[in-house]
Amino acid sequence: MPLTRVPLEPDALVRARTSIGDFELTVCSDGTYLLDGGAMFGVVPKTLWQKRIPADAENRIVLGLNTAVVRTGKHTVVIETGIGNKQTPKMQQIFQNQALLPASLAAAGIDPAEVDLVVNTHLHFDHCGWNTTLHADGSVTPTFPNARYFAHAGEVAHGHLQLERDAVSYNSPNYDPLIASGQMTLLDDAAIHASVEICPGISVELFPGHTAHMMGVHIEPARAVESRPGAGDTPHACYIGDLLPTAHHLDVTWVMGYDLDPLRCIEERKRFYSRAIPEQWMVLFPHDHDTPLARIGRNDKGKPVVAD
Ligand SMILES: [Zn+2]
Repeated sequence: MPLTRVPLEPDALVRARTSIGDFELTVCSDGTYLLDGGAMFGVVPKTLWQKRIPADAENRIVLGLNTAVVRTGKHTVVIETGIGNKQTPKMQQIFQNQALLPASLAAAGIDPAEVDLVVNTHLHFDHCGWNTTLHADGSVTPTFPNARYFAHAGEVAHGHLQLERDAVSYNSPNYDPLIASGQMTLLDDAAIHASVEICPGISVELFPGHTAHMMGVHIEPARAVESRPGAGDTPHACYIGDLLPTAHHLDVTWVMGYDLDPLRCIEERKRFYSRAIPEQWMVLFPHDHDTPLARIGRNDKGKPVVAD
């Protein structure tokens, strides 16, 4: 069965827009891309996962590339930057990616020059591609010229190792020029434990498993104010990175073939649900084109499911 991948119309370039307390949250998109369905669902049999998401004759499924943009009133924060425009023709042929993030930001009325902060949950090529832009003359410049970028030092070190298992996932022009220029701040575990805040209301937390140093990004307007009258209403969103790539991956054991430590992913999912479900967090999925964000609940068997 061929996959239906119509080009995104301008009004489909913005995947969601909502408010989280006083913050404006917009989900932009670098478009869709194709990955092997088996790799996305690890040891889960195809007979099960294909009930949730269809595959084509080459076993590929359509995935999204979601960028969250948060306007806090004081800062504009971008979380993840898609695949970008540095793919070789061969890689573009394989992934069929569309490089739509600049058009998506424009459709949402977000000027790259207004962005103050960029956070990458990890540095796989499909999460930080538009950190920088490749030009016709071969030069690479920051896509967000006035932003301070944040990534985990462990991700940079791992990418530089170029290991057999995942060398292809790391493309250093997405981060090395920003590190060289001083525009990217590298966090380590000690720095994160000491101060998790990127700016008031935006903080990071380690969720290892997919990679050893992957971070989730918390969006909590109540943390941006000294004291909030009528406490109890504390809206909270979380961009969870590849711990939950899509809304089809909510079952704790439906981890990916790409995950470096799948057992850790299972434990981290349980830890995440223990807060995200009772506190009704709005969860942002990096690679779900159709359901970029949702609250999570439990069905009558206790399994995590999309609640709304
Ligand atoms: Zn990844």
